[in-house]
Amino acid sequence: MAKFVFVTGGVVSSIGKGIVAASLGRLLKSRGYSVSILKLDPYLNVDPGTMSPYQHGEVFVTEDGAETDLDLGHYERFTDTAMSRLNSVTTGSIYQSVINKERRGDQVIPHITNEIQSFIERGAVLDDGQAAQVAIVEIGGTVGDIESLPFLEAARQMSLRLGRGSCCFVHLTLVPFIASAGELKTKPTQHSVKELRSIGIQPDVLVCRSDRSISEDLKAKIGGFCGVPKRAVIQALDADSIYAVPISLEQEGLCREVLDLLGLADHDSDMALWAGMVAKLRNPGPAVKVALVGKYVQLNDAYLSVVEALRHACIDRDAALDLHWICAEQIEEQGPDALLRGMDAVVVPGGFGNRGVDGKVAAIRWAREQRVPFLGLCLGMQCAVIEWARNQAGLAGATSAELDADSPHPVIHLLPEQQDVVDLGGTMRLGVYPCRLTPGTLGQRLYGDEVVYERHRHRYEFNNAYRNLFLESGYEISGTSPDGRLVELIELKDHPFFTACQYHPEFLSRPSRPHP
Ligand code: GLN
Repeated sequence: MAKFVFVTGGVVSSIGKGIVAASLGRLLKSRGYSVSILKLDPYLNVDPGTMSPYQHGEVFVTEDGAETDLDLGHYERFTDTAMSRLNSVTTGSIYQSVINKERRGDQVIPHITNEIQSFIERGAVLDDGQAAQVAIVEIGGTVGDIESLPFLEAARQMSLRLGRGSCCFVHLTLVPFIASAGELKTKPTQHSVKELRSIGIQPDVLVCRSDRSISEDLKAKIGGFCGVPKRAVIQALDADSIYAVPISLEQEGLCREVLDLLGLADHDSDMALWAGMVAKLRNPGPAVKVALVGKYVQLNDAYLSVVEALRHACIDRDAALDLHWICAEQIEEQGPDALLRGMDAVVVPGGFGNRGVDGKVAAIRWAREQRVPFLGLCLGMQCAVIEWARNQAGLAGATSAELDADSPHPVIHLLPEQQDVVDLGGTMRLGVYPCRLTPGTLGQRLYGDEVVYERHRHRYEFNNAYRNLFLESGYEISGTSPDGRLVELIELKDHPFFTACQYHPEFLSRPSRPHP
């Protein structure tokens, strides 16, 4: 049976609960413990698949095709372990399961907190069917939100049921510096712990986020008011990179404290590789100007995994990432040259719907003609195909059937078997699919493999009716489904670097192992 660490948050959101959970996962793994991490999301959607990126940030896709919260991406990147749909629990999924049981007659009296506990226990089981030694359970939202109450209550019940030494509670709070007083203030932390206690949970460890160092005296004061030993008051200083957080939490003794509470031995930790990666990150070589041409450039979280993947690549190549967020619609107004001149590379990420597509197509044309390196991801590949169709293959009006159902040249379309199915979220190609690489192509050289497995999240595909025309006009198809039917990866021969894929390689990139 796994032991459980519940991670809650107080005072305000966005102070890094996901990064703390992921960092603890890294520290436990680096001591040889097997770890699972779950995210409990207190919203009523069954999954975030249908929410706007502005409401939710990126949708992270797991190997088994679940559409999940972006924190699962952090868990994967920090622990280098693939998550599954069991690692993501929403209020909607809990209620759906309870109501289905009730309707089937399996459970006459619906019970929410029991269901949450069984979801948590399921999520603690690893791929090989064994329970993880430690399961970290991040409870979304902030203590005091009505939405997260059932999750907190379930955690409280679970810790009582499993008994001492089986569970512990880590609470993340903010210790703000108030300029007019010239002091760090502990009152918000005290109030948030009081709130947590009022629902029956006494935190065992406090992680205190702060922009400056918290003195030993202040730690003693926080501990005293909150009923936590001083050594379990852990400071989490603002960091220059999220990847530096595990290292500073290690120095503060977070993992040692958690292991002690769970009655587990504190082995030596091996963070050498990780520390080496952070050192490289902090001492980069020359900057690379990368333009990320998208629709949601106001919210950096919307393309989180893409940006992290670019960072990983830069760490590996000793480069400093100089990322430029370019609004696709602005390209439509001002033309690509005004916004892209001087860029070293152009990335067009995934997306849905018409808005901004013409700007993306213009950016791709610019990168192709100026011979600037280009990488297209999912909708980015579809836009590259549209660009070629319109400007090189002589197909006026070419587009994707998603964008114009009456296009004379739907170079991207729904597969015939999908055409009659209308169901939000139900008809997408989601999760891992194999891709067979074409020998002799750039794609095949980059991977150095014959078949690769990549994660998908899309509904539309390259239209094979145009395949020969594309090949004849100079396009290269460098990867397809093993049966050859679905186009997965394309490139251009006469270009320094022009490649785009139907899948999302960004989900597989790791800080110490960037994606090819
Ligand atoms: N909207 C496109 C499709 O559904 C691309 C999706 C994406 O970029 N994730 O096929």
